[in-house]
Amino acid sequence: MTNHLFSLIRSRQPDPSRLFAELPDGRRYDYGEMERRSAQYANALVQLGVMPGDRVALQVEKSLEAVFAYLGTVRAGAVFLPLNTAYTPSEIDYFLSDAEPAVFVCDPAQEAALAPIAKARGVGQLLTLDAAGAGTLRAAADAQRTSFEDVARGPDDLAALLYTSGTTGRSKGAMLSHDNLASNAQVLAEYWRFTPDDVLIHALPIFHTHGLFVAINATLLAGSSMIFLPKFDADLVLTLMGRASVLMGVPTFYTRLLKHPGLTPEAAKAMRLFISGSAPLLAETHREWRARTAHAILERYGMTETGMNTSNPYEGERIAGTVGFPLPGVELRVVDPENGRELIHGAIGMIEVKGPNVFKGYWRMPEKTAAEFHDGWFVTGDLGLIDTRGYVQIVGRGKDLVITGGFNVYPKEIETEIDAIDGVIESAVIGVPHADFGEGVTAVVVARQGMGLTEAQVLGALEGRLARFKCPKRVVFLDDLPRNTMGKVQKNLLREQFKGLYGG
Ligand code: AMP
Repeated sequence: MTNHLFSLIRSRQPDPSRLFAELPDGRRYDYGEMERRSAQYANALVQLGVMPGDRVALQVEKSLEAVFAYLGTVRAGAVFLPLNTAYTPSEIDYFLSDAEPAVFVCDPAQEAALAPIAKARGVGQLLTLDAAGAGTLRAAADAQRTSFEDVARGPDDLAALLYTSGTTGRSKGAMLSHDNLASNAQVLAEYWRFTPDDVLIHALPIFHTHGLFVAINATLLAGSSMIFLPKFDADLVLTLMGRASVLMGVPTFYTRLLKHPGLTPEAAKAMRLFISGSAPLLAETHREWRARTAHAILERYGMTETGMNTSNPYEGERIAGTVGFPLPGVELRVVDPENGRELIHGAIGMIEVKGPNVFKGYWRMPEKTAAEFHDGWFVTGDLGLIDTRGYVQIVGRGKDLVITGGFNVYPKEIETEIDAIDGVIESAVIGVPHADFGEGVTAVVVARQGMGLTEAQVLGALEGRLARFKCPKRVVFLDDLPRNTMGKVQKNLLREQFKGLYGG
């Protein structure tokens, strides 16, 4: 048996002297280097005692060394577990206790705070890696041989564990197999016509499926290269567009670029493709982008549990406000959430998907897994429809999720923290249209009379308790929350009432 994912990557590898990645400071890494560096990380992990199936967790800043660590983990037969850099130590405590990784890698600046947590959770090895790619993990890899005999892994063996936010406050680990990742990347590289000549501008975080699997795995399977940026920077992206061919972004990238006077047809001339996903792209953004650059943004739809499900066509019309067609090999249907029956085209219901991209279930949560599958179909939680031309449209999120700057925020978790603050009776967290972030996390709070609770006090109390992206951008006060006859808070009314809060 071979190592399913890495053997596929190797089989697609171009000449080893071809460029794999370039950093903003001009450092260049060819495919031969990718193979050698990932081998060194695999050797280091094996030496640290990592066994096939063990989890290797990283909460580190974006760096190419972290990418090599990902590939080394896969080659060593272990399970890669990236964690959002915004998570606080108390959130990390939960992930370490749930996933029980053999190795945990953190930023050196966080080591003192996280070491006692890792120890208490029985993590075997704590190592470090910083934004410049230096640290004890790097040193361990540097000392290793540059060849490695990949650990055999089949299509159904786990390659990664990616946590989603939980609606009930607990995050769930989505178990992704070698074939989930391999099949999806293969389809995307072909569907979006990637070739070895493509140069991708990589400005996404790599703790999420978009930047990690969609961007990097598609690049690897096409033998393309990427310009690897530490983060999104509109000035830099505009400069790079002159010698790149593809940009993958969240809608916020596009709205920020549209605000830049440098975005002209000339600036975008060398580019072949602009892709957007992870949150809804406003039809207005699509139209403005086309007017400014003569390019139609290609919008696609996916999620942590499934990788990519649908995409607008490469050739053919890319329709604003739609996410296109199911990808080859992916089946998608819309069902009535009440009775589970499939609906006709044009009717809004729950989106369900099936295919080799769909995950193996939630880590150690068999009941939750069973609850999210319906006759072998994965229930996405997204409400949508298939129009008469077969394009899928997402119309809303069944689970009240707020998506801010491409990140998911589940209101329940924030409400629980706010309700614990002295002087708060109750709260409702909603997403309110925000030109920059898509949605701004907004807290509606009912405070005890006479306590004089202020917005600054609520925000101050949340600091350090929640990752920054989850913290409300604004806190507003009401005497009562609107409720329906069943006692449920009517968040739709709140969204309507506060829709202009961010100038919308
Ligand atoms: P995540 O698991 O973080 O990738 O988030 C997945 C969720 O993001 C999906 O279930 C959708 O609600 C949303 N999403 C992703 N892509 C799109 C899109 N193009 N349009 C609308 N919502 C999207």
